[in-house]
Amino acid sequence: MKQYLRISFAIFCCLLIAACGQNEAKPSEPVPQKKPAPMTKEVEAPVQLGTDMNPETLQIPVLMYHSINTNVKNNLITPPNEFDTQMKWLADNGYRTLTLAELAPLLETGKNVPDKPVVITFDDGYQDNYTNAYPILKKYGLKANIFVITDKIAKNNHFDEVALKEMSAYGIEMESHTVHHHELNTLSYEEQLKELQDSKAVLEHLTGKKVNSICYPVGRYNEDTVRAAGATGYTMGFTTEVGKANKKDGMYTLPRVRMVPGMSMESAIK
Ligand SMILES: [Zn+2]
Repeated sequence: MKQYLRISFAIFCCLLIAACGQNEAKPSEPVPQKKPAPMTKEVEAPVQLGTDMNPETLQIPVLMYHSINTNVKNNLITPPNEFDTQMKWLADNGYRTLTLAELAPLLETGKNVPDKPVVITFDDGYQDNYTNAYPILKKYGLKANIFVITDKIAKNNHFDEVALKEMSAYGIEMESHTVHHHELNTLSYEEQLKELQDSKAVLEHLTGKKVNSICYPVGRYNEDTVRAAGATGYTMGFTTEVGKANKKDGMYTLPRVRMVPGMSMESAIK
């Protein structure tokens, strides 16, 4: 019997040691987790709003307005009801109104051109741009650009700084129409340079935004004007010559579509 107990005890001890050995083989510290795969950031494709086109043949209409008022005797004045009809037509037909800051790279590169692009511009900065045109632009959610004569701000039926800032904040770009509205081709290079630089500085100070474009008063310019526009940092210059804007016209001698009373928008931009 004693022999039997000794053998049993020995077997028990062997099992116990084996069990302890097993425990040692399985350390109690946590099993290291597999490292998570590093997050791979997906490369986002650039937002493509439009189509890539050949910049040599791309043409975009830049509409030229002056005053929006009821005096129909002058062919530079569009009656407000006609302007409303024209803006409604653009909105109803899915046109995309661009700022001049948006226009420049489209003309230069032809890349990502939105469907049905159009640019609305007003020359001189008349008070009725604020009182008559601005509410209509807001009603249809359209953008526009105003070429401001900086020396005329708040004078002689031209809007003041408060109106200028309000329209700028809405998204109407304020661009240069020089300081004094002199015919630039009658001035020396230095005089032209000063007109271009000073007007740009005043508008950039008032709006806090970059001024990109210059519109030559009465459409008059010469080689010095083009040189001065480039030296001042403008990216585009506009004339009063008639046509849709195309890179080949020269970025400092771009034509526009003249809007006259009685003109339908459909015929203007076809
Ligand atoms: Zn003018």
